[in-house]
Amino acid sequence: AHLDRIAAVDGAVHAFLHVDPEGALAAARAADERRASGSVASALDGVPIAVKDVLATEGLPTTCGSRILEGWVPPYDATVVARLRAAGLPILGKTNMDEFAMGSSTEHSAYGPTHNPWDLDRIPGGSGGGSAAAVAAFEAPLALGTDTGGSIRQPGAVTGTVGVKPTYGGVSRYGLVALANSLDQAGPVTRTVLDAALLHEVIGGHDPRDSTSIDQPLPKVVEAARQGASGDMQGVRLGVIKELRGEGYQAGVQQRFDEAVQLLVDAGAEVVEVSCPSFVHALAAYYLILPAEASSNLAKFDAMRYGLRVLPEGVDSPSAEDVMRATRDRGFGDEVKRRIIIGTYALSSGYYDAYYGQAQKVRTLISRDFEAAFGSADVLLSPTAPTTAFKLGEKLDDPVAMYLNDLATIPANLAGVPGISVPSGLADEDGLPTGVQVLAPAMADDRVYRVGAALE
Ligand code: GLN
Repeated sequence: AHLDRIAAVDGAVHAFLHVDPEGALAAARAADERRASGSVASALDGVPIAVKDVLATEGLPTTCGSRILEGWVPPYDATVVARLRAAGLPILGKTNMDEFAMGSSTEHSAYGPTHNPWDLDRIPGGSGGGSAAAVAAFEAPLALGTDTGGSIRQPGAVTGTVGVKPTYGGVSRYGLVALANSLDQAGPVTRTVLDAALLHEVIGGHDPRDSTSIDQPLPKVVEAARQGASGDMQGVRLGVIKELRGEGYQAGVQQRFDEAVQLLVDAGAEVVEVSCPSFVHALAAYYLILPAEASSNLAKFDAMRYGLRVLPEGVDSPSAEDVMRATRDRGFGDEVKRRIIIGTYALSSGYYDAYYGQAQKVRTLISRDFEAAFGSADVLLSPTAPTTAFKLGEKLDDPVAMYLNDLATIPANLAGVPGISVPSGLADEDGLPTGVQVLAPAMADDRVYRVGAALE
């Protein structure tokens, strides 16, 4: 049924870069056989899933939305993908994304943008717009995304889907093509909070192949989602973040957010206002730390090891450097080049302390703001994205306007704390989806599920 749906609507939505009907059907048949013999592999055995194209899939192309990886088929699975297969989830295909996960609209994909199923002239968010659009358009019941600065949560908000960024270290990064190693986390994209929790249980938990993986039992996320769905919020302390509201937030987004808070208060929660003064510097710090890490990660695309190799024109016997230059010139898009330039500049001797070092200090201050706020609140709340989905092309020529979409989502990545985005209804002015974000302390992912489920 999902393959039929993809065939019917993906021409217009373009959520997928690659669909694998044979592989998905073979996995589905194996799940049917397990079910018939009464030996299901997991609660999600046989439930199909779409996977963001930044996660390595053995035997299936993995491009990261970039020309430079066109045609690359990984010889191994990312840990999260291996866990999907072991739990019996058929993989429908790979979803579109901004090139190397840099962007907030999927317009930086080298393979053309994804369209928001709510209004095809609008963006589905990014970088994981393909995963969110696939779920919103009923092409897949579940998807995997990755969130480095909001790429699961912001697409969730603008497509009316649920998106979770787990605690840093809670889900393995092995086989996730790194954008920024200290910020990246894979997580669920779904239609309900309980679905997200079930998927989180499949992909989460310790992995010895990821040196930053936390060797502790996974928080009880499914139990928490079920508890939250009962609607009882007695004793839960909500902190509304003062710096993530008001100016810059669309009126309809703010209104739906205020109603979401009221809903939780009516269910018995207490609400306090918390201040996180360093959050106003989060965007500036992120857009130094991320390009620094990304520029270093992207050095491996050298025309020798993976994917594309371009021979420079008019050069008789090109050197390795000539080939590298020609390949990277053709293989990388403008946004990737912009970040490589920023990142290498920020890391260069003489500027390192002034930019990268300073950004790392801001990062520490942001973690301290979270610690202080979690002293008076169990979870923190804000709108997920400042606006609803904007028009395709509207912010493409203005990188800073594009970066401003990440205002509310970035602090969680800098501090490594978990967050969920849950749909909060349609904005009055344009009838488009809005999202509310719930944040919790590291390894307290269960709290975001509990409060998230109460908001449904
Ligand atoms: N918009 C952010 C960026 O462009 C999102 C990154 C991400 O989460 N992958 O860096």
